[in-house]
Amino acid sequence: MTLRHGREYLAIPGPTNVPDAVLNAMHRPAVEIYTGPLLEITSSCLEDLKRLFGTTTGRSYIYAANGHGAWEAALTNTLSRGDKVLVLGSGRFATLWGDMAAFIGIEIEELSFGFRNAVDPAAVEARLKADSAGEIKAILMVQVDTASSVMNDVAAVGRAIRASGHGALFMVDAIASLATMPFEMEAWGVDVAVTGSQKGLMCPPGLGFNAAGPRALAAHRSAGLRTAYWDWTKREGPLHYEKYCGTPPEHLLFGLRQAIDMLFEEGLEAVFERHRLLGEATRRAVAVWAEGGVLAFNVLDPAARSSSVTTVRSEGIDPQLLRDYCNDTFGVMLGEGIGELNGKGIRIAHMGHVSGAMMLGTLGSIETSLGALGRARGKGGDRAPAASLAEPLPAPAAAAKTDLRNAGT
Ligand SMILES: *Cc1c(COP(=O)(O)O)cnc(C)c1O
Repeated sequence: MTLRHGREYLAIPGPTNVPDAVLNAMHRPAVEIYTGPLLEITSSCLEDLKRLFGTTTGRSYIYAANGHGAWEAALTNTLSRGDKVLVLGSGRFATLWGDMAAFIGIEIEELSFGFRNAVDPAAVEARLKADSAGEIKAILMVQVDTASSVMNDVAAVGRAIRASGHGALFMVDAIASLATMPFEMEAWGVDVAVTGSQKGLMCPPGLGFNAAGPRALAAHRSAGLRTAYWDWTKREGPLHYEKYCGTPPEHLLFGLRQAIDMLFEEGLEAVFERHRLLGEATRRAVAVWAEGGVLAFNVLDPAARSSSVTTVRSEGIDPQLLRDYCNDTFGVMLGEGIGELNGKGIRIAHMGHVSGAMMLGTLGSIETSLGALGRARGKGGDRAPAASLAEPLPAPAAAAKTDLRNAGT
C-alpha cells in the first residue's frame, strides 16, 4: 500500500521546492538580450541582492553557475597563486571550498571544529593573532553547513577577526542560509558573500551570486587569479551582455525576479520567523524521537542548530530504510547523510518555500515511518511538532471564546 500519489514533497536541503509562481514566471518565450524587459530585471535583481546580503556599499554579481561557481568566483577575484587562506571547518562545505582553492594554487590551512560543533570565534582570534607576518590573506567559513547542519555565528566571528587586528578578507558561504535567516554583510564585517539560487531563494539550480564589499573590491585590483568569465570588473561593463559574460540565463532570471518579489512581499522578518518556527518544530520532534535512542541530533549545542536544515544521526535504524519508507509510502523525499554521516544519518530540510502543512506532513511521515519500521522510540513524537507551532501563534479570533486548543480536555 502506498499513499504517495498526490504531490511529491522534496524535503532535501537543496534544490528546494520551487513555488508555482516562480515556475509560471519562467514559462514564457525567450526575449531579446540587448534591450527590453530583461535589462530592468537585471538591474533590479542586482539591487535587491545587495539588500538580501545586507550591503549598501558593496557590489553584487550574478553568474550562470551553481554554488561551486560562486565559490570559484569569490576566490579568483580576490586572491593570487600562493596566497594562504584559513578554512574554518564545521562540517563539510567550507572544507570543499578550501579544496577548490587548493586546486587553483592557493595554500590552505584548516582550523576544524569537527562535524558537530560551530566555529569558535576565540580560536579564530587566537590563530589570527599568531599570524603576525600576515600570511593569511582570507578566511573561508559557511553560515550554515548543509552536511552537519551547524549554524555558525557570522557576526561573532566577524568581531573576533576585527579584534585580532588582522587584515585577512572574511568570505562567507551563505548558500544554505540566505533568505532563511538574517545575514548582514556590512554590519558583520564580511568582505565577500556567496549564495546560489536553489535553496532559500526558491529557484531552480543554475544561478550563483557574489556580493563584494569595499575591502574585497580593493583586493580585486591586484588579484592574480582573475579569469575572464568570473571577473567582477568585466561584469561592470556598460553593456547588459557583459553583466553575464555572454547570453543571460533569461528564464532563471524571470524566476529569480518572482522569487525575490515573494520574499519582499512576505517581509524578510516574517520569512526568518517562519523558518525559525519550522526549524523549532523539527527540533521538538527530533528531541522526542531521540528519547527512544534511535535517532540523535548531530549538532551538540542547541544554539548552533540551523533554522534551515536539521541533520539527524541514526543510532539504531538504517537511515536508507527510513528514507525509502518515507518516500515509497508518503511521497516525502528526505535528505541523505553526507560526509561523515554518509549512510549514518538523514537530513530534514526546512528551507525556502515551506509551509506549516509541508513541515508537519514531513515530520508526521517520519514519525509514522519510524512506528511502521517497528523501532523503539519516545512516545508522542507526532504531537510535539504541532504543539511547537501552535504555542507561539496567536489564537484565531473565532477561537477566542472557546479555546480550541483545549477542546476535549
Ligand atoms: C548546496 C551548497 C553548496 C554547493 O552548491 P552547488 O549549487 O551544489 O554547487 C555549497 N555550500 C553550501 C553551504 C551549500 O548548502
